[in-house]
Amino acid sequence: MSTDCKITDNIKIDVFGEVIGQKISSYLAPTMKEVPAEAELISHKLMIRAGLIRKLAAGIYSYLPMGLRSLRKVERIIRAEMNRFGSREVLLPAVQPAELWKESGRWEFYGPELLRFKDRHERDCIIGPTHEEVITDIIRREVRSFRDLPLNLFQIQTKFRDEIRPRFGLMRGREFIMKDAYSFDVDDQGADVSYKAMYQAYTNIFANCGLTFAIVEADSGSIGGSFSHEFMVTADSGEDGLIYCSSCSYAANLEKAELKDYPIEQAPIGPLTKVHTPACRHVPQLAAYMKTPESSIIKSMLFLGKDSEPVLVLIPGHREINLIKLKNALGGYEPTLADPDQAEKIMGVPMGYVTPIGAEVKILADLGVARMTSGVVGAGEADYHYTGAKPGVDFRIDQSLDLAVMVEGDPCPRCKTPVKVRRGIEVGHVFKLGTKYSKAMGANFTKPDGTDSPIIMGCYGIGLGRTLAASIEQNHDADGIIWPMALAPFQATLLPLQLQRQEVLQAALALFDELVESGVETLFDDRDERPGVKFKDADLLGIPLRVTISEKGLNQGLVELKRRDNREVTMLPVASAAQELLKLRDQALKTNRAG
Ligand code: ATP
Ligand code: MG
Repeated sequence: MSTDCKITDNIKIDVFGEVIGQKISSYLAPTMKEVPAEAELISHKLMIRAGLIRKLAAGIYSYLPMGLRSLRKVERIIRAEMNRFGSREVLLPAVQPAELWKESGRWEFYGPELLRFKDRHERDCIIGPTHEEVITDIIRREVRSFRDLPLNLFQIQTKFRDEIRPRFGLMRGREFIMKDAYSFDVDDQGADVSYKAMYQAYTNIFANCGLTFAIVEADSGSIGGSFSHEFMVTADSGEDGLIYCSSCSYAANLEKAELKDYPIEQAPIGPLTKVHTPACRHVPQLAAYMKTPESSIIKSMLFLGKDSEPVLVLIPGHREINLIKLKNALGGYEPTLADPDQAEKIMGVPMGYVTPIGAEVKILADLGVARMTSGVVGAGEADYHYTGAKPGVDFRIDQSLDLAVMVEGDPCPRCKTPVKVRRGIEVGHVFKLGTKYSKAMGANFTKPDGTDSPIIMGCYGIGLGRTLAASIEQNHDADGIIWPMALAPFQATLLPLQLQRQEVLQAALALFDELVESGVETLFDDRDERPGVKFKDADLLGIPLRVTISEKGLNQGLVELKRRDNREVTMLPVASAAQELLKLRDQALKTNRAG
């Protein structure tokens, strides 16, 4: 037997192969006092300060042992629910041949977020930002008949998206870990059943992670498809706006929120009249100068769509354009606002005076403009505007559609109650894809009558790192992280205060052994540090149950338990401390568990 193989002192391993008890002295858990300069979000700051992650390059991070432990917890919660709801795990490659993306059409559509490269044979390749193409390729080869369906497959894997602004640490990385799942059904009804199962699985997953979240209607974005919901962790720092109606159940991402009727103050109807409006390039100046409500001004904005085709977009002066709605109106092509030079070249006047009257470019109008009886528009000439311009009469509208951003107080599209707006972090997304990929890539099955039909698909994603970051956004205080039991890297931490005192060390080690034996994941602070340092680090790490073992307490046969969430302090008899901690651990795990 070899003698140079050393197993560290009686390491106890759980069913997942993870270490149950860990001494800090033999761990990589580098905490930091100072706040990293580049971190804006509290979760990002705390993940770095607590030594969970380290940055390698913009949007690319390493998980250190403590961070990885929490990541594994999210992973296990996800895996359990996916399996429970009938999805089976696969692992697909990160590198994908461009041909598949050309077949689906996304080689052209996806834009610069798609990381493209050539291999040594000059073949175009990509690193997967998502895996619809790869999974559809497998299914079209392996599934033949209706008897092979339904199917649902998932993976937990690294994605790469070359985000324009990677930021906030794991929240918006370029390389990140996603759970993605794909469902395959013979008909719409079956696809709805698959969708509902995933919706329920996601509800359980985020509840089991101990998160407070909302489920909102969402835009289907570049993945395409017909129907989708997002799971939003509510937090003021969230990048997404979500609107909700307190009277019916409508809730939607602001990107998607339907704005049907919002108030417009109609300007008095008069003849089309040219007015001198010196230096009134912006709506507020113009409204003040003309003594007219902002909602009676029609903003004309020039955008460039597919192949730089100019599109004039009209919207009431008091409203903003929703770029996602505009993108969908342009067939999925990202609109760019024309710069002043482009606008002047195409429309012949500076921005601010562009007019829809007589314009030769395509004109899209927000529904609000279409409802106006008359309004103020640019005159196509510097320092002049028209009053009394009647949409559809004085100028052409090629298409009128919902293009505006919804704001707090706008009418709910279902019940007209004024809606509320809050911020959220999108942690999960479920899509009903339909036949977009199966048709494009020829993924068909044979029906009982012998004819072929495209498979109906759904896809379902969860960002694991983002879920962890979102949990910290929701659970922290001025001193550090407050992990919910379900995601905590360790469930308990032991702080022996006077390590050099044999009775303290022995009592702490005995408690450590007991906890580890009973399966309570425990971090043992065996560093020769001042109590203040240990307390500060324990608060920063946010481990739910903190036990301090001191000479003073032991003299009375007691140790001190402090809960990280409510800071409650109790003295426990040494003899029953492990049992008590086990009980508290199990209670906390149960509280967050759905179903
Ligand atoms: P976003 O609008 O935030 O860019 P998305 O709509 O592009 O997200 P999906 O394609 O639906 O995201 O991806 C599924 C999940 O993957 C998201 O719900 C999110 O949790 C996660 N995710 C997406 N992009 C990132 C990223 N850049 N960094 C970390 N997680 C991400
Ligand atoms: Mg995105």
